[in-house]
Amino acid sequence: MEVAPRIIALLNQKGGVGKTTTTVNIGAAMARRGQRILLVDLDPQAHLTLHLGVDADADEPVSELSIYDLLLNPAENADAAVSHVDERLDVIRSEVDLAAVETELAAAPDRYTRLADHLRRVADRYDVILLDCPPSLGLLTINALACAREVIIPMQAHFLALQGVGKLLETVSMMASRVNPLLRVTGVILCMHESTTRLAQEVVADLEAFFEQNRSQPVPWRDARILRPHVRRNIKLAESPSFGKSIFDYEPTCPGAQDYAALAATVLALHASSPAPPDEPEVCITVQAVQPATEAAPDPA
Ligand code: ADP
Ligand code: MG
Repeated sequence: MEVAPRIIALLNQKGGVGKTTTTVNIGAAMARRGQRILLVDLDPQAHLTLHLGVDADADEPVSELSIYDLLLNPAENADAAVSHVDERLDVIRSEVDLAAVETELAAAPDRYTRLADHLRRVADRYDVILLDCPPSLGLLTINALACAREVIIPMQAHFLALQGVGKLLETVSMMASRVNPLLRVTGVILCMHESTTRLAQEVVADLEAFFEQNRSQPVPWRDARILRPHVRRNIKLAESPSFGKSIFDYEPTCPGAQDYAALAATVLALHASSPAPPDEPEVCITVQAVQPATEAAPDPA
């Protein structure tokens, strides 16, 4: 039996927290560990696309189709939108027009599930699909949350960081109750971390306390944890995108490469040690029919 891939949304409505860096480098690390990986760039800024050099100006052949073409056209062939970046590492690229999708899709009855419908057609070729979300909680993010089974939140241990997480968890909760009951928050990854500062230590302690308090609650984050190691601030991680490379191709022994390699192992091990219970079949893309407009949300503000 073909096992469905893990579909993980990397989500934080704040920009610049490390979503794209984490998607690229965890994906590359997993591919190196033998996993078949698909990365999907859902951000109109196309940073992941540029980071891996699969933009329109690339030297290597890349697909003419972007996630924009897929989302606007349910009949489009998802297979044809996949570009191969490296051994076991594929990408569906973004493009700047993607911002227009939100308005163009707004009236479509299947506006929440277009991504799920496309990914279903390529899913059996992958072990893990990572969705790099835009810095908003709009329709693109809703599409990611409609087909993901897991959410990982990259963030920085800053003052007020927890406030932003609250809003994000509300959106996850709404999606879990209305559209995708299998959605779970796997955890938080602390990016650009400076473990010696008192503020960072306090934020880590607060987050841990928050997750502990929610352990027995019926919420999608009841099993969430801070995934370790934290990713240290490392200039090599900021340099590698301009070379179109993951950290493993750019500077494989630097602290950033060490941290992402270890994190990828953590994320893979989590799944190995916690299989889905028998009454919850291992089907990732189980998007239920979305209620029509009577339930006005989930279009978030
Ligand atoms: P997001 O996708 O959430 O907007 P990015 O992954 O693009 O965030 O990261 C924001 C910026 O910080 C980028 O310039 C990136 O290269 C840089 N960056 C990310 N993680 C690190 C790190 N651990 N150390 C140093 N710079 C980092
Ligand atoms: Mg990004």
